[in-house]
Amino acid sequence: MAILTSMSVFDEVNVFLDRASERLGLDDGVREMLRTPWRELQVSVPVRMDDGTLKIFKGYRVQHNGARGPYKGGVRYHPMADYEEVRALASLMTWKNALVNIPFGGAKGGVQCDPRTMSEGELKRLTRRYTTQIEHLIGVNRDIPAPDLGTNSQTMAWMMDSYSQIHGYTPGIVTGKPVELGGSVGRDSATGRGVAFVTREVARDLNVAAEGARIVVQGFGQVGSWTVRLLGEMGCKIIAVSDVDGGAYYPRGIDVGLLMQHKEEAGTVAGLRGSEPITNEELLELECEFLIPAAIDRVIDERNAPRVRAKVVIEAANHPLTPEADSILTERGITVVPDILVNAGGVIVSYFEWTQNLYQHQWEMDRVNDELNKIMTRAYKSVKERSDYEDITFREAAFLIGLERVARVAEMRGFI
Ligand code: GLU
Repeated sequence: MAILTSMSVFDEVNVFLDRASERLGLDDGVREMLRTPWRELQVSVPVRMDDGTLKIFKGYRVQHNGARGPYKGGVRYHPMADYEEVRALASLMTWKNALVNIPFGGAKGGVQCDPRTMSEGELKRLTRRYTTQIEHLIGVNRDIPAPDLGTNSQTMAWMMDSYSQIHGYTPGIVTGKPVELGGSVGRDSATGRGVAFVTREVARDLNVAAEGARIVVQGFGQVGSWTVRLLGEMGCKIIAVSDVDGGAYYPRGIDVGLLMQHKEEAGTVAGLRGSEPITNEELLELECEFLIPAAIDRVIDERNAPRVRAKVVIEAANHPLTPEADSILTERGITVVPDILVNAGGVIVSYFEWTQNLYQHQWEMDRVNDELNKIMTRAYKSVKERSDYEDITFREAAFLIGLERVARVAEMRGFI
């Protein structure tokens, strides 16, 4: 989708931040400190491609704010990954980690590449070189990367190995690893499970029966596919799903088992037997109870926001709405549940993984899911209470809570 606004993604995230700073009455210097990344690194990543040519990719690691603990956040492999996007995503990690109250600051990394067109060998070489390029910046008590868009547990295994070659065996250097290598059980489903928990809580508060509620999900990667599966188990009616190759619309409710099988065989959700084809743009405008963008940023802007017909938008992706879209939906009475709350399940289980690595112990699945439920539900309730009490949106409430926590700790530590 063409981007109409001239603002960068980072500027847009700062619009949300500024609104919260204004409300908290923070002075200009403190605001500036909270906006500005503490440390940024750009690296070049030369990779010998399978055809013998040498390609130089751009890589980034942005450490946005470390007041509350080691920096934490994923690494994205995507053609659009650039400084501004990585900065924006690093900032969102700061507020996300503070909101759900886990002891981390915020960071993000990225490599500008298209992993869909690269072989496994190319991706492995890219990951190894990127890791050695940022190796001096990361550390178990400094900065802990994880998967994000375009990366997965295999990427983390390579990162862990590259780092360990220099520093000795260090499983806690990344999270989202394969379970056999010190990963946590339940990490792969964690973000989707968190999305499902939040949807359940919102449905209860808004008096919408989860059973039979119409759900539309954009994106069928790790987050979208687990979201669909878990909401299906809760009795919701999944009426449309999509991925980069297209979408499937079935108003009577998609059979999730069949959908998973189709995705496995065809590599896409498009073309699901019995479904109508639907584009990613059309899907966002379907009438439903819960619209869940779970793919990339800025998919709803001022152009299509007036046509959204959901009761609630649950932001499973990072920054799927521009600030204009956020205002339009709010004015239209559509509830928006913000990314820094909705998709926090991944980093919460990353936190469990990191602690398990520190004391060399593996938790059981029930423990992971119970503790995840507790943290997500508590964070949701704090946002809901704040939003009711101050008569503000969920997003404003979530940013207020995050900002207050970071500002308080920064003051205690003597930064401000
Ligand atoms: N990339 C995920 C996010 O945006 C997870 C980060 C992590 O586990 O550190 O929240």
